Amino acid sequence: MSQQGYVATPPYSQPQPGIGLSPPHYGHYGDPSHTASPTGMMKPAGPLGVTATGGMLPPGPPPPGPPPPGPHQFGQNGAHAAGHPQQRFPGPPPVNNVASSYAPYQPSAQSSYLSPMSTSSVTQLGSQLSAMQINSYGSGMAPPSQGPPGPLSATSLQTPPRPPQPSILQPGSQVLPPPPTTLNGPGASPLLPPMYRPDGLSGPPPPNSQYQPPPLPGQTLGAGYPPQQANSGPQMAGAQLSYPGGFPGGPAQLAGPPQPQKKLDPDSIPSPIQVIENDRASRGGQVYATNTRGQIPPLVTTDCIIQDQGNASPRFIRCTTYCFPCTSDMAKQAQIPLAAVIKPFATIPSNESPLYLVNHGESGPVRCNRCKAYMCPFMQFIEGGRRYQCGFCNCVNDVPPFYFQHLDHIGRRLDHYEKPELSLGSYEYVATLDYCRKNKPPNPPAFIFMIDVSYSNIKNGLVKLICEELKTMLEKLPKEEQEEMSAIRVGFITYNKVLHFFNVKSNLAQPQMMVVTDVGEVFVPLLDGFLVNYQESQSVIHNLLDQIPDMFADSNENETVFAPVIQAGMEALKAADCPGKLFIFHSSLPTAEAPGKLKNRDDKKLVNTDKEKILFQPQTNVYDSLAKDCVAHGCSVTLFLFPSQYVDVASLGLVPQLTGGTLYKYNNFQMHLDRQQFLNDLRNDIEKKIGFDAIMRVRTSTGFRATDFFGGILMNNTTDVEMAAIDCDKAVTVEFKHDDKLSEDTGALIQCAVLYTTISGQRRLRIHNLGLNCSSQLADLYKSCETDALINFFAKSAFKAVLHQPLKVIREILVNQTAHMLACYRKNCASPSAASQLILPDSMKVLPVYMNCLLKNCVLLSRPEISTDERAYQRQLVMTMGVADSQLFFYPQLLPIHTLDVKSTMLPAAVRCSESRLSEEGIFLLANGLHMFLWLGVSSPPELIQGIFNVPSFAHINTDMTLLPEVGNPYSQQLRMIMGIIQQKRPYSMKGHPPLRKCKAGT
Ligand SMILES: [Zn+2]
Repeated sequence: MSQQGYVATPPYSQPQPGIGLSPPHYGHYGDPSHTASPTGMMKPAGPLGVTATGGMLPPGPPPPGPPPPGPHQFGQNGAHAAGHPQQRFPGPPPVNNVASSYAPYQPSAQSSYLSPMSTSSVTQLGSQLSAMQINSYGSGMAPPSQGPPGPLSATSLQTPPRPPQPSILQPGSQVLPPPPTTLNGPGASPLLPPMYRPDGLSGPPPPNSQYQPPPLPGQTLGAGYPPQQANSGPQMAGAQLSYPGGFPGGPAQLAGPPQPQKKLDPDSIPSPIQVIENDRASRGGQVYATNTRGQIPPLVTTDCIIQDQGNASPRFIRCTTYCFPCTSDMAKQAQIPLAAVIKPFATIPSNESPLYLVNHGESGPVRCNRCKAYMCPFMQFIEGGRRYQCGFCNCVNDVPPFYFQHLDHIGRRLDHYEKPELSLGSYEYVATLDYCRKNKPPNPPAFIFMIDVSYSNIKNGLVKLICEELKTMLEKLPKEEQEEMSAIRVGFITYNKVLHFFNVKSNLAQPQMMVVTDVGEVFVPLLDGFLVNYQESQSVIHNLLDQIPDMFADSNENETVFAPVIQAGMEALKAADCPGKLFIFHSSLPTAEAPGKLKNRDDKKLVNTDKEKILFQPQTNVYDSLAKDCVAHGCSVTLFLFPSQYVDVASLGLVPQLTGGTLYKYNNFQMHLDRQQFLNDLRNDIEKKIGFDAIMRVRTSTGFRATDFFGGILMNNTTDVEMAAIDCDKAVTVEFKHDDKLSEDTGALIQCAVLYTTISGQRRLRIHNLGLNCSSQLADLYKSCETDALINFFAKSAFKAVLHQPLKVIREILVNQTAHMLACYRKNCASPSAASQLILPDSMKVLPVYMNCLLKNCVLLSRPEISTDERAYQRQLVMTMGVADSQLFFYPQLLPIHTLDVKSTMLPAAVRCSESRLSEEGIFLLANGLHMFLWLGVSSPPELIQGIFNVPSFAHINTDMTLLPEVGNPYSQQLRMIMGIIQQKRPYSMKGHPPLRKCKAGT
């Protein structure tokens, strides 16, 4: 791609200390530096910890000697010196640089954890975690004559998973019923049959070890057993659980000698619900001011009012830990990922201040001469205000004359509180022409609607529906608040094997159609009249939208093209010299002769082999290079897919993913059932806040730097994150690595700058600053972790790795790294305890449970029954998720509806997301951000069934419905209100699936 039009000193063109050196082997998946025994670097003894009572080492083998130096040691200052200057647009890109945006994993990771130390505490912890994943769902699996858990041998970790061994599992014999609760009384059977799984979805796994999972056509909600279970289950007997601080509501402490015969009580496992509720109780509804470096924000599930006092709101940036380790050795020792999940355009609620806009006129933003960081609260003014020291690179800069201000008695500028860039964590700058392509202001963006008018879309009424609804939806094109009408122009294309462009110029009486049959080399047949202002051309556009369904009503064309459609949209934007977004409504595998033609390659035989990754890779590199072209021209692609069979989502979804677009998928679309969900999605997508033609740069203070990026992004070098567009729901997860020591005094500072074009065509910079603490105490690091952000990071790094590595290896790495993080805590921060105890730091109480949820996601499960397209879809979806969405996605909300207080306006308290929590007297709502299920027990109260469904009994409920009937009854109103609250702020309209299942007693 060529963007030579940018000016000679573009904002991101300067070399930066610590940036610009591409580390050869970063990443959790195959980082050779991990092959050095991480545990070997643990400090031999000493109370590093501040938690609990002693900080003594637990009994265990003496730590081995220092590890052999790994091939890629951290902590080299050379990284600075060696960092070669990066050019923003360094000429022709390397041949394979699209792939490089997700390539750095190397399949060598297994050995990382097989040091002598690993075979004891780490492995045992891994075993205990696996025990949790069995037992957390209520299956007692204690082998009758198994002694205390012995360490697994190093080799046993490398053996492939074995199937469950019935002789050890002893189905049924050890099962303890779940403890009596209001939901699950003493009489309730813990043995529930599998949930009905409509639409390729699964419910939580059943509680009993006798259960054999049925074929799963697709998997979302935590079903099935991860393979680790089979590997380590038998060793798990007697695993007990404890963690500092105890667990409210659970057994006080399970410390003590191992008791091999006793199963792990699911209730003794820390409850995510409890953690969420505790945080809500202590921090909910309060004002959270961001004035302190390194402070840990409320959980993403807690509602509070955020006040920017110098650090970016957690709505914009959340971190895996708010206290970085001072050295890379310490980071390697703990193996806690150091990452930030950045959602630069996150929606700000109306009760919080919107971002201020700073305008320095022609002078442009004030920036450090050396590292190009933008003026922010981390700059220290000195010499009476004439100079300032950069908080990122320490360079001392002159204050430009126009920006001079005197300092007060504590060395602060007198205008400190008048300038957002001096006192706030987040703000925007008006960008000068230097920041624009070709040194001229950008044109406002355009939306192009591209409708597949092949036979099936006409026949099922989809084309008619889209055309009809667009007429009203286009009234709501996004606009700046102060403006009367949207600056966004619109254009229309229909296609099957050929493309039809429409001229909808306002002075025409009738729209005109131009057909492009040469799909091999698409050109734009008209410039004037293709992209128009909606208000001005309204009558011609409505005329067109009325005509399109009839125009193709007699078409028998089944074949479609796809890549040429994107190409056409991109070329049209290019010709109009504006960024924009394509809305493509597509249904089938593009088999017509054209670039990007696909064949059905859905080969289930690849599942569970080393070649499984192929299923997640695009079939041809046409889409890779197309995505690159799109990003180069600020063309974002949003795809609405309506597949009735395999359509190769891995290929079709690539351009949407890499261009910051969104992929929506409606399997077997049925007008009467799925219409509303689709229309909600379309409306939301048209209206949502979005920035175009964006480049993001993450700067850091000295000692560490951003090394890896995950999201709807493309990178042509190691530092510039390019995005054709980024909307309010998209997040980029950034991983950091040390390249030197960090100081406890200065902390670790992060500045994220996004240069973008607004919906009205203004070029702006959005700046987010965040200061983190640093510590040489491991306990501080563990205290400051955020599990929800950790899971976001683990999910994205694992889902990125599935393109290149066997899933088995990835799953093992996830389990091992989790075990390692916890083992390091236990060894260095916790008081001595029995080897069989699982010790969890307070901030990671629910990490093992969440990790199990991640492992149960259909992307990581190698099951041929799960649709390949569904797996590819979910993989792409997660790659751009923010923390709130990934939290709900991996740990769905399960709400008891039968205990509703119809007078309350609050959501009912959730219960743990496990099938063992369902009861046959109950009604439950289950939501994960994509789907919403209503689950009905066979003995659910008739008055509730009457109230919600307006039918006299269970047997009368229509099992096809996807929307609740509107019944004028308090139960119905309350339930619909709850569903509305859950749906709020979620990027996808959740598909309704009521009623999920009718459970029969005792089966
Ligand atoms: Zn600097």
